[in-house]
Amino acid sequence: MAKRDYYEVLGVSESADAKEIKKAYRKLALKYHPDKNPDDKQAEEKFKEAAEAYEVLSNAEKKQRYDQFGHAGMRGAAGGGFGGGMDMDDIFSQFGDIFGGAHPFESFFGGSGRGRQRVVKGTNLRIRLSLMLKEVAEGVDKKIKVSRLVNADGVTYKTCGTCHGSGQVTRISNTILGQMQTSSPCPVCKGNGKSIDNRPSGTDTNGMLKKEETVKITIPPGVEDGMQLKVGGKGNAAPFDGINGDLIVLISIEKHEKLIRDGQNLHYEHYISFADAALSTSAEIPTISGKAKVKLESGIQSGRILRLKGKGLPSVNAYGKGDLLVHINVWTPQSLSKEEKKFFEKCCDSENFKPKPTAKDKSFFDRVREMFG
Ligand SMILES: [Zn+2]
Repeated sequence: MAKRDYYEVLGVSESADAKEIKKAYRKLALKYHPDKNPDDKQAEEKFKEAAEAYEVLSNAEKKQRYDQFGHAGMRGAAGGGFGGGMDMDDIFSQFGDIFGGAHPFESFFGGSGRGRQRVVKGTNLRIRLSLMLKEVAEGVDKKIKVSRLVNADGVTYKTCGTCHGSGQVTRISNTILGQMQTSSPCPVCKGNGKSIDNRPSGTDTNGMLKKEETVKITIPPGVEDGMQLKVGGKGNAAPFDGINGDLIVLISIEKHEKLIRDGQNLHYEHYISFADAALSTSAEIPTISGKAKVKLESGIQSGRILRLKGKGLPSVNAYGKGDLLVHINVWTPQSLSKEEKKFFEKCCDSENFKPKPTAKDKSFFDRVREMFG
């Protein structure tokens, strides 16, 4: 199924401001919320679709990319992991700023009758990981030391005395419609139903402490600068038997000393002498994995681009590899000896030295069009 336009999903115009976008999303999130539509697959899809659209359109940088490139510009950008899409955890964690604090459905649809208890999730950890282009080409396993919050040995919990373990407090108020019962997360235990019993020394108020741990991260081939990779469960642990947060790895890619990356393609500027261009020569071109030998025919023009097929980079999202594009630059001598000067003066009158571009010597713009078209 083709992906729907994000503006269409939220039902706003492309000129909608942040406030309108937020408002439109709130409306949809309430309408399609799983608590309101139990076991309704279609509503769940709509709920996720709206969350994804909001995730992109509410972020200035992502929105700009989307406005410029459409869904193609979002590859690997939406959500936390690769390949786009968001899971329910991501969506609910986003609700904090949409609905201003508490998850609204605890009080709207939750209530004591359903015995709904919040699972506490640890906070995410973020690290920046720097990679070399060679590592991007092949993918790499990295071992990284992270300092995580973990539950200390010997910590024990007891049932919260305020909410008696339900995680909810119920308040009854009198209104013109009669008595109304509202529930909200317990302020003492923050909704998890437990409080600390035995807290070992050297731990924080939740019985947790920082521990250094080595985490193995598998980087797939073809990652790009700025991508985020999520390692599930490797963030901070949560107190009270909650679930671990995630480790978010922000990829940054070091510049290669000779090759320039452009998506899956690589570019290399190769300089040859005037004489080599006129005669014929071979060139050694640096590649990601070593070198490639290329024959340059006599009469090669400055500005020619040679394509070394498959010598580029793989992609995270697609099959195949890009190419290595070798840009030929003919180096014009900056100074000449007396003899050389004489030689070139003689050449000036030669018919061979007069420029005669043909259709074969395409203009710069034609070549660019061909490369990127
Ligand atoms: Zn409580």
